[in-house]
Amino acid sequence: MSEKLYKDISTFKVLADELISEFNSKAISIKHNPLEVLKKFDISLDENGISEEKFIKILRNIVLNTPKTSGNLFFNQLFGGLNSKAALGDLLAVILNNSMATYKISGPMVEIEKEILKKVSSIINYPKEYGGTIATGGSMCNFMALIIARDKKNNTIKNKGNSGKLICYASENAHYSIDKNASFSGIGRDNVRHINTNKKGEIDVIELEKKIIEDKKNGLNPFFVNISIGTTVMGAIDPIKEISIICKKYDLWMHIDGSYCGSIIFSNQYKYLIEGINESDSFCFNPHKTLGAPLSSSVFLVRNKKHLSNSFSNKAEYLYQTDDDDYNLGKFSFECGRRNNSLKFWTLWKSIGTKGIEKMVDHNYELSHYAREYIKKNSDKYTLYSYENSLSICFNYKNIDPIKLCTELYNKNKLMVGYGNHKNNTFVRLVTVNRENTKNDILNFFKTLEDFANENL
Ligand SMILES: *Cc1c(COP(=O)(O)O)cnc(C)c1O
Repeated sequence: MSEKLYKDISTFKVLADELISEFNSKAISIKHNPLEVLKKFDISLDENGISEEKFIKILRNIVLNTPKTSGNLFFNQLFGGLNSKAALGDLLAVILNNSMATYKISGPMVEIEKEILKKVSSIINYPKEYGGTIATGGSMCNFMALIIARDKKNNTIKNKGNSGKLICYASENAHYSIDKNASFSGIGRDNVRHINTNKKGEIDVIELEKKIIEDKKNGLNPFFVNISIGTTVMGAIDPIKEISIICKKYDLWMHIDGSYCGSIIFSNQYKYLIEGINESDSFCFNPHKTLGAPLSSSVFLVRNKKHLSNSFSNKAEYLYQTDDDDYNLGKFSFECGRRNNSLKFWTLWKSIGTKGIEKMVDHNYELSHYAREYIKKNSDKYTLYSYENSLSICFNYKNIDPIKLCTELYNKNKLMVGYGNHKNNTFVRLVTVNRENTKNDILNFFKTLEDFANENL
């Protein structure tokens, strides 16, 4: 076993070295026709195995032809760039292969997860009763929040089913997981109220309260409000303080989905934008988005642990045989076998400290200001759709169709960027989430896009 593992890890090193050397030198990846991929790369699984030589050759070819998300031309998703210390931690987590369910099988890794939760809870000023978990994504965190809130409102649903008249609220720009989660939790997609937003993409608080009053009048039971710190398209931050007043007044669970921009909690310069976060009942953010931890890495916190444990703790004698519940993290999570998604964020944090993370976040915002300034300076050619203090820079170049522009940039392997829409405008959405990038990389993004558009469209 060890001999084989040593050998395959040296193969890994060779492949990884080549891959990393291409991160910035070969754009993202040549686009292959999806209908040809299966044959072209010998992907099919057959009765018989293959020689080592052939195996490595095929694997290399597949790896080098897979889109590379860590280079300086990838702006397509809300993640990008890889933090090297986080990658190191994640690679070790694979070799360790613990399951983060009990202390017995993961030992000190339990304290690593708990330390992250403790530090984040103190940064957002949660009381000492806080609880939390490292979950498998922002969608999952939002799902957990919804279930916990449901059970807090009506603790019979988890046993008897039928969530009846429960209603939740989110802005029209909130992440699509809110609707899916309403379906999964038995609340129902039709019982999500999508509240209008203003031109910046922030939820309309007056309409929110109106809808709540109306629903109550109709005998329904409002229970949950989703607030975004960074809406997926516009990167808008909902007005937390104002919503917190409404949540208190009507006894609603206040969840903050910071999946996109929640890492702003680390920034002394920008945290004024999220004042009131300490009033929330639950909060989540994704170190895999703005901080460069490998997918997936999501921190989920609840203000009071008893609610988390009420919904998620299950007896399982075959599993929980030793140690205190506080150390058996499976009691606070969805999964039974739990991949170690904590170590990567811990290696990142431990190596550069909280101050180092703050620098990363500030740098992302600095790049966003730089990109917006560039567009404003070139307003004869560009239209800007986004506002200050957002990591999403939404724009159009000349009168070029943004869908065509983004698609052709991808087809021709120039760079990867996506499009979005808001208030009847469709635009290119540049995201400055890759803190490895410099201002020059942002400038290069615009130059590449302009040259390509001028020559081809
Ligand atoms: C990305 C995102 C999510 C989903 O997070 P995953 O980790 O991809 O599941 C949820 N909410 C917002 C606002 C997001 O941007």
